[in-house]
Amino acid sequence: MSDAETRVVVVGASLAGLRGAEALREAGFAGPLTIVGAEPHRPYDRPPLSKAVLTGEVAADATTLPNLVALEADWRLGTPATHLDRTRRLLTLASGETLPYDRLLIATGASARPWRDSAQAAFRGVHTLRGRDEAEALRRDLAAGPGHVLIIGGGFIGCEVAAACRTLGLPVTLAETGPTLLARVLGRHLGAVVGALHERLGTTLRSGVKVEALEDDGTGRVVRARLEDGSVIAADVVVVALGAVRNTAWLEGSGLAFDAGGIDCDAQGYVLDAADAPDTRIAAAGDVARFPHPLYPGRRIALEHWGHAVAQGRHAGRLLAGLAPEPYRDVPAFWSSQGGITLKSVGLTEGADGFCIARGSLKEGRFLAVYGREGRCIAAVAFDCARWLPAYADLIAEGAPFPPEPTGVDAGPFTVLPPDFPEPARKDRS
Ligand SMILES: Cc1cc2nc3c(=O)[nH]c(=O)nc-3n(C[C@H](O)[C@H](O)[C@H](O)COP(=O)(O)OP(=O)(O)OC[C@H]3O[C@@H](n4cnc5c(N)ncnc54)[C@H](O)[C@@H]3O)c2cc1C
Repeated sequence: MSDAETRVVVVGASLAGLRGAEALREAGFAGPLTIVGAEPHRPYDRPPLSKAVLTGEVAADATTLPNLVALEADWRLGTPATHLDRTRRLLTLASGETLPYDRLLIATGASARPWRDSAQAAFRGVHTLRGRDEAEALRRDLAAGPGHVLIIGGGFIGCEVAAACRTLGLPVTLAETGPTLLARVLGRHLGAVVGALHERLGTTLRSGVKVEALEDDGTGRVVRARLEDGSVIAADVVVVALGAVRNTAWLEGSGLAFDAGGIDCDAQGYVLDAADAPDTRIAAAGDVARFPHPLYPGRRIALEHWGHAVAQGRHAGRLLAGLAPEPYRDVPAFWSSQGGITLKSVGLTEGADGFCIARGSLKEGRFLAVYGREGRCIAAVAFDCARWLPAYADLIAEGAPFPPEPTGVDAGPFTVLPPDFPEPARKDRS
C-alpha cells in the first residue's frame, strides 16, 4: 500500500495492535496511522502483572512495551471505540470523535471475567487482574499485609497470583471447581503435579469446590467467602481469576461475526461478516481473533498467548499493508512462571486422548509431556526443561505420529496414559 492517502486505524493499543502497527510501517506503509486505546496508557506488557509486579520486584508503570519501529502514529488513548460503521468506513469513539478508515486492525484483546454478582464484586478487597491499574490495586492490597488471600480459579493467572502471594509470605487459599489445578488444560495427572507444587509452596488448595458468595463486614469490605458445601473461608483480599471475556461488545451492529469468545476471521486473518464473507479492509489479531488453524481442523481457535499476539499482530500488519502473507499457521506457544518453576507449552492439549512423559520424570519434577490425538502429536508441555521443547514443536507442526519415536535422552519406551480432562479441555488460559 503506497497510497499516502490510505488511512489505517488500529483499535486496541496493546501488544497485538502495537506489533501490527510496526509491521505496517516496516512493510512501507507511509500514510496516516491512528491507534485507539481504551486505557490511558501506552502499550504495556501483561505477563509481569501476575508475577513480578505483585511481588514488588517490577513497578506496574515499568512494564511499557518498547517501540521496535518508529511509528509516527496519532494516538487516541483513554477513549474506547464504541461503534463500527463498515458501510461508511467510520469508527466512533467514546469521546464522540469519528475516525474514517480505509484499513482497520482490530486488536481489542480480552478483559477479566468479572465475579458474577456485581454488588459483591464491588466490595473493597475484591480484585480481578488483566490490566496495569488492576495489578497496581492488587499489589497495594497485598503489600498492606492482608490476613488471608483467597483466589477463586485455579487457571494460570490464579496459580501465578498464588505463587506471588507465597513469595510475599501471605497466607493464601486457592479454590478451584475442577479436581486439580489447571486440569482443563493439562488433565488431572499433570494438574495434580502443579497442585503439589503449590502445596509445597504453602498454598492451601480447595479443589472440587464452588465459591457461592462473597460477604462483607457491613461497610463494603470483603471478609469471607461462602462455599457451596456450606463451608466458609475468611479472606480480606479476594482475587477473582475466572478466565477472560473477549472485548467484542463494541462491534454490536457492525454486521461482523463475533461473540464473547472472539471475532471470527478467515485463514488470512480478515474478519468475517455474519454471512461468513471476509471484509478485506479489516483484519483482527491477538486474543480477540478466532481463526482457523491448519493443525486444529474443523473449528476456529482463539488464543491468549503473548507470542501469538506478537506473531499474529505482525501478520495482520503485513496483510493490511497488502503484502499477502501466507495464511497464519504458527504453532501456539505459551509460558507461565510459578514459584520458581517455568512451565512452557507448544501446541494445544485440547481434545488429547493420551499423553506420555517423553523426557525427565514426574518424580524429579523436571519433565516433558507429549499429548496426542488420534495417533498424532498435538502438544508438548515442559516443566522446568524448556530447552527440549523446540524439537517437539517441530513434531507437532509435522503432525508426527503419537507416541513419538524415542530419541536421544527420551524416556522411552513410552507409557501412554489418558490425560483425564474433567471436561473438554479449554483452548485458552484462565
Ligand atoms: C496478568 C496476565 C499474565 C499473563 N501472562 C502470560 C504469560 O506468562 N505467558 C503468555 O504467553 N501470555 C501471558 N498472558 C497473555 C498475554 O499477555 C496476552 O495474550 C496478550 O496481552 C494479548 O495481547 P492483545 O494485544 O491481543 O490483547 P490485550 O493485551 O488484551 O490488549 C487489548 C487492548 O485493547 C483495548 N481495548 C479493548 N476494547 C477496546 C475498544 N473498544 N477500543 C479501544 N481499545 C480497546 C484494551 O484496553 C487493551 O489495552 C498474560 C495475560 C495477563 C492478563
